[in-house]
Amino acid sequence: MNTKHNFGAGPCVLPASVLQQAANAVLNWNNLGLSILEVSHRSSDFENVISKTELLVRELLQVPDHYSILFMQGGASTQFSMLPMNFLKGRGKACYLDTGFFAQKAIREALLFGEANIVNSSADKAYSYIPEDYLVDKDAAYLHCTSNNTIEGTEMFQFPHTSIPLVCDMSSDIFSRVINVEDFDLIYAGAQKNMGPAGMTLVIVKDKFLERIDQVLPAMSDYRIFKEHGSLYNTPPVFSIYVAMLNMTWLKDQGGVTVIEQRNIEKAEMLYTEIDRNSLFYGMAQGKHRSRMNVTFSMYNQQQESSFLDFVEQYGIVGIRGYRTVGGFRASLYNALSIESVIELVKAMRDFEHIYVN
Ligand code: PLP
Repeated sequence: MNTKHNFGAGPCVLPASVLQQAANAVLNWNNLGLSILEVSHRSSDFENVISKTELLVRELLQVPDHYSILFMQGGASTQFSMLPMNFLKGRGKACYLDTGFFAQKAIREALLFGEANIVNSSADKAYSYIPEDYLVDKDAAYLHCTSNNTIEGTEMFQFPHTSIPLVCDMSSDIFSRVINVEDFDLIYAGAQKNMGPAGMTLVIVKDKFLERIDQVLPAMSDYRIFKEHGSLYNTPPVFSIYVAMLNMTWLKDQGGVTVIEQRNIEKAEMLYTEIDRNSLFYGMAQGKHRSRMNVTFSMYNQQQESSFLDFVEQYGIVGIRGYRTVGGFRASLYNALSIESVIELVKAMRDFEHIYVN
C-alpha cells in the first residue's frame, strides 16, 4: 500500500480502497478468471462499466439530459486542437482567456485553425491572478477558459456570462467542487487529477453545441462520432475508465461533490493559513484567486528551498517541488489527499521555521 503523503500534481492520488479494488481487478475481475486488462471492450461486462461511469458523471455533476458524455483519449492536450478543429475552423475567430501555461497551449493550437483573440491575460503578473473583465466578440465561435491553473495555482470561482458558447478546460478541478454544467457548452478534462489514471479524457457537451459542427473531420477528431458510438468507436482506455468508475463510486459514498468541496476548502484554508503565518514562506497566487487544488508557494530565502525539500522527506511528504518553469513549491490537494496529509505538511513547515528562525 502507498504510505506517503502524495502532494504530486498528477498522475492522480487515489484512495486506498480504490487502489485495492483496482489491484484485485487486475488479477481477476468479477471472478471472470480474466484481468480487467484482458477483457474485451465489446463485452457486456465492460459495456456495463462504461454506462455506469456515465451515470456516475451525470449524478455527481448533475449533468442535464441535453448534454452528452464522451470518453475520449489523448488527454486534455488533444482537446486543445480538437475543439478548434470542430468549432473554429471556417468560422473566423474564437476567444481565449489567457490564465497560464495550459491556456497558452490551448491558444497555440487554436491558431492552427483560425484567429484566437485573447480577451484578457494575467501574463503581466506571472499568472498570479484571474483577469475579471473582458469583452468577447459577439460573432466568435466560443470563449475558452481554464477553471484551474494547475501550474500557477489560480482558480476561477466565477465564470463568464456571455452570449457566445462557453468552453472550459476543467482538467485539474473537475469533481472537486460544485459546478453548474448549464453554464457551459463544452467541458473537457484529462482523467489524471480527480478521476483516475491517465488515459481517458472526459468531455461533457451540450447537444445543441454539437449540432454546429458542419465539417468533414477525421473520425477520431470528431465529437459526433464519439457520441454516435457511445464512446466505443475504437478501443477505449478500458482500465482508465474502470478506475474512474471506482473512484467516482468512492466519491459518491463520501457524500458526493458537495461534501468533497467542503473538505477541499478546509484543506486549502489550513495550508494557506500556515503559508501566510509562517515567516519563511509566501503564497504565489493572489488572495481570492488562490486555487484549492494546487497551492503554489515559495520561500523568501530561495536558498533554503532545497533544504526544505529534503526536510519534508522525514514526514513522508512527496511531490511538493514546484513546476520547473515556476520554481518554489506546489502542494496539490486533490480529492483523495486526506486532511491528515495537510496537517503533516503544516507541521513540517512549522518545525522547519523553528529550526531556522532563531
Ligand atoms: N489542462 C490542464 C489544466 C492541466 O492541468 C493539464 C495537465 O496537467 C492539461 C491541460 C494537459 O493535460 P494532458 O496531460 O492530459 O494532455
